[in-house]
Amino acid sequence: MKAQALDSKRKEAREYQTRSSGVFFKVKKVLYEKKSAFQKIEIIENDFYGRVLFLDGLVQTTEKDEFFYHEMLVHPALACHSRPEKVMIIGGGDGGALREVLKHPVKKAWLVEIDQEVIRACEKYFPWLDKALSDPRAELAIADGFEFIQRTTEKFDVIIVDSSDPVGPSAILHAKDFYQKLKKVLKPDGIIVAQAGSQLLHLEEHAQKAKFLKKMFRFARFYFGPVPTYPVGTWCYTFLSDRIDPLKIKKLRIPAGLNYYNAEIHQACFATPAFFEQAIK
Ligand code: SAM
Repeated sequence: MKAQALDSKRKEAREYQTRSSGVFFKVKKVLYEKKSAFQKIEIIENDFYGRVLFLDGLVQTTEKDEFFYHEMLVHPALACHSRPEKVMIIGGGDGGALREVLKHPVKKAWLVEIDQEVIRACEKYFPWLDKALSDPRAELAIADGFEFIQRTTEKFDVIIVDSSDPVGPSAILHAKDFYQKLKKVLKPDGIIVAQAGSQLLHLEEHAQKAKFLKKMFRFARFYFGPVPTYPVGTWCYTFLSDRIDPLKIKKLRIPAGLNYYNAEIHQACFATPAFFEQAIK
């Protein structure tokens, strides 16, 4: 994906998702702009989508449609686990995933975000982050997720990889080596979920990932959900576990009051389109 950098006088923010197509937002106001040690961070206001977070010019989160992504990233795994006490989120500095995790009866949730500036900006402009971080069960670690998992002495019930796309500081979070190390800090009956990219645009990456993930985990399934502002609209996630098959759970533990995810969506989201099945075969 190609990104177009914003500037404070720009009337429009565009993200090229392919060479010839993409998404644009009319900029009502530029709320925040800063180049951190890792990436360019921008937050704009748009009439329809509300506040929109860009990292290096790529849309990460919008107030209007973030629930599609965060609910689908978090709840399928947490609803399948009978006692998700220790949960780790890698990335996720906008706080949406942490907010959703805390809807479950977890004992502790770590947010491992590499970029302190993303946290600062999102605390100010996406108030759900501040609220989630004030929960006594939440612990923030400003650290590279790859390094964090190599030094932690904890074992986790659920690990959520809420990374950006495989460019910049996130590239490392999509590689085989990372998943091998991640598995070492997962309890035997644990679950890993990761955002995996666009269903249509990243087919080749999905095929490569499927090869090693299927060897590494007894259950390695892709699942899907819409995210209107992400490239081509349908997003992919991976569900990985040695003990838990997400399609054989008798009682899903779903918190009340969600906007998108429910028991019917849970069953449906693992249905794989023919072109995708063919690609990951
Ligand atoms: N849902 C989003 C998407 O796909 O567009 C991703 C959201 S979240 C903002 C991604 C976060 O991952 C960013 O804040 C980024 O700083 C963080 N990140 C990138 N590489 C990381 C790493 N190696 N360790 C920890 N966090 C990382």
